[in-house]
Amino acid sequence: MGAMELSSDLLMPRRKTRRIHVGDVAIGGGAPISVQSMTTTKTADVEGTLAQIYALAAAGADIVRCTCNEEAAAEGLARIVPRSPVPIVADIHFHYEMALAALEAGVHGLRLNPGNLRKESEIKLVASEAKDRGVPIRVGVNAGSLHPDLYKKHGGATPEALVESAKMELAYFEDVGFTDVKISVKASSVALMIAAYRLASETFDHPLHLGVTEAGPPPAGLLKGTAGIGTLLAEGIGDTIRYSLTADPVEEARAGRQLLEALGLRERKGLDLIACPSCGRAQVDVIAVAKEAQAALEDRNLPIQVAVMGCVVNGPGEARSADLGIAAGKHKGHLFIQGKIVRVVPESEMVDALVAEAERLVAEGVDARLAAADASAEAEAEADRAALLDEKGVDPNASEVRVDRIRRRVGAAERTGRPADAAHDA
Ligand code: SF4
Repeated sequence: MGAMELSSDLLMPRRKTRRIHVGDVAIGGGAPISVQSMTTTKTADVEGTLAQIYALAAAGADIVRCTCNEEAAAEGLARIVPRSPVPIVADIHFHYEMALAALEAGVHGLRLNPGNLRKESEIKLVASEAKDRGVPIRVGVNAGSLHPDLYKKHGGATPEALVESAKMELAYFEDVGFTDVKISVKASSVALMIAAYRLASETFDHPLHLGVTEAGPPPAGLLKGTAGIGTLLAEGIGDTIRYSLTADPVEEARAGRQLLEALGLRERKGLDLIACPSCGRAQVDVIAVAKEAQAALEDRNLPIQVAVMGCVVNGPGEARSADLGIAAGKHKGHLFIQGKIVRVVPESEMVDALVAEAERLVAEGVDARLAAADASAEAEAEADRAALLDEKGVDPNASEVRVDRIRRRVGAAERTGRPADAAHDA
């Protein structure tokens, strides 16, 4: 028996929950506990948001949430989702139209706050459409934005009030036959959050998303998050977690991962290999190359992040947070260090070149390897990028088709107060 099984076996057995899927990440029903984080960029800033998503994925996030608070954010999601290495959840407050627009953008999950999106008809409309598209929803109750009626009824944001808020939302969902749900009952008070989740765990069999909200900056924020999330996980409660820190979200993802490793709930990560999801721009079989690179690198014990990217058009920029990476294109491999192209090799040699560069990078350091870059590499990559853009056009993922639908749909909602009927065909 390995150390991992041994330590997690000493915790209380995990509560049985239903299983849902956010993209390809299973949540609940005994699936590995997943780590989530949230971007701090404007979602309309596609390149900046994608770079942060890659950094979060490299730090251990399995799922990333982005705010969807305006039409430009929904349009950003339409361009981000096909290029994200991890599933994307849209965070919705107040505006049901933004939930519909996010679905149109192709997100893998929604988070609704029942405290500020309260109209039954709107909630049901969003749930119906999520059901049609097979997209799960998190009922994200928050003590700080509890429904005012429940606040009054319970005399404050009590555990019972938080759980009742989730129950009400579930009842609306069930009316339209939607059950693809996970639940959170977060609070900034650790004691309240622990009590609320214990009650939620007795009340529901849906997967639970754990978090201490507005925990503040580290180290106090880390301690609060660990006290709340760690206590519940040790009791067998919780299926996915997020630290909410006033800090670079990379710290949230790292802390989430480290907590799960410390409890023996996830295996320790050795080499950090990330790969793009391979979209319409891909020039190689990314999964095959990533597997080959993983196999070649994993026994070498190199403490670096390595990215395998499907195209040189966006790959080096998307994965600029990685120490080293390779991006395909025009039958070549473009090696990059922290987003800067240092060498171009034939495609058949890309994995060998990646391994050789990884070893040198660890031995010599980033500055030395950047100084040793081929003088012509950046120009050659630029020419390959231009050729690929010519070949595949500017919209190989059909993101602009989705953006058009979002515009029609949000425009119709603004004109009539109702979303456009049957505006989706996915
Ligand atoms: S193929 Fe290129 S644009 Fe598509 S996800 Fe991979 S690196 Fe990004």
